[in-house]
Amino acid sequence: MKRMMIAGNWKMNMLRHEAKELTQNIVSGVKDVKGDIDILVAPPFTALDIVGGLISDTNIKMAAQDVFWEDRGAFTGEISPAMLIDAGCKWVIIGHSERRGILGETDSIVRKKIKASLGDGLNVIVCVGETLKERESGKTIKIVRSQVESALTELELDEPGKVVVAYEPVWAIGTGKNATPEEAEHVHATIREITGNIFGQDSERIRIIYGGSVKEDNIKELLHMENIDGALIGGAGLNADSFVKIVKIAGE
Ligand code: PEP
Repeated sequence: MKRMMIAGNWKMNMLRHEAKELTQNIVSGVKDVKGDIDILVAPPFTALDIVGGLISDTNIKMAAQDVFWEDRGAFTGEISPAMLIDAGCKWVIIGHSERRGILGETDSIVRKKIKASLGDGLNVIVCVGETLKERESGKTIKIVRSQVESALTELELDEPGKVVVAYEPVWAIGTGKNATPEEAEHVHATIREITGNIFGQDSERIRIIYGGSVKEDNIKELLHMENIDGALIGGAGLNADSFVKIVKIAGE
C-alpha cells in the first residue's frame, strides 16, 4: 500500500488574506486525519510565507506551483529551488498543462526543472496528460509515454518516493468533465509500466496521482483503482469544505 497524496493547486487565486482564511479552515478541517496520507497545498508565490507559517507543525505540507532550474543569478522574475525551500516548500509542481499550454513549457524545460529541484532536495510532482485533440486522435498513450520518458529517463533518484507523477488529461482540467476511473486507470497502469522500465523495482515507490475535475463525489471511485495513488485538485481545492471532504475520503 502506498501512502496516498491529496494536493490542492490554488493556481493564480487567493490574495494573502484569502489564503490565510482558506489555510486556517483546511488546517482545522484535516487536523484529525491520521491516515497514511500526504496532504499538500500549493499557494501562489505571494502567499507562501503566510501559508507556510500557518501549516508549520500541522499534517499539511506546502508545494510551489513552479520553479526555475538555476540556483541564483540574472533570471528576472524566476524563483529557484533553494528559494522555495527557504520559503517552507517541501514539494513543487512541475509541467502543469497550463504552463505547457499557455507559457510554452517544453519537455526539455520540464526535465531541467525536475533535475534542479531534486538536486536541491525538493520533492516533485510532474504533470503529464493529453489534450482533447490528442485523445480524439488516439494519441493519449503516445503523448503520455513521451512526456514521462522525457521527464524521468536517466534521472538519478536516491529516493523514488520523491517523485510523483500526476496524470491530468488536459480536457478534464477545470471543465467539469473527468476521465472515468477505468479510463484514468488505463493510463495510470501504462505510466506504472513506463516508470518500471526506467527505475525497475524502485518504481514501486513512485506514486501516480490523478487530476482533472476531481470532487468529493468522484474521488472515492478514482481511488479504488489499483494504480491511482491520490489526486491533484484544482477548483475543489479553493473551497475548504470540499478539500477537507476529499482528504477525509482519501484518508479512510
Ligand atoms: C489542476 O489544475 O491541476 C486541476 C486538476 O484542476 P481542476 O481540479 O479544477 O480540474
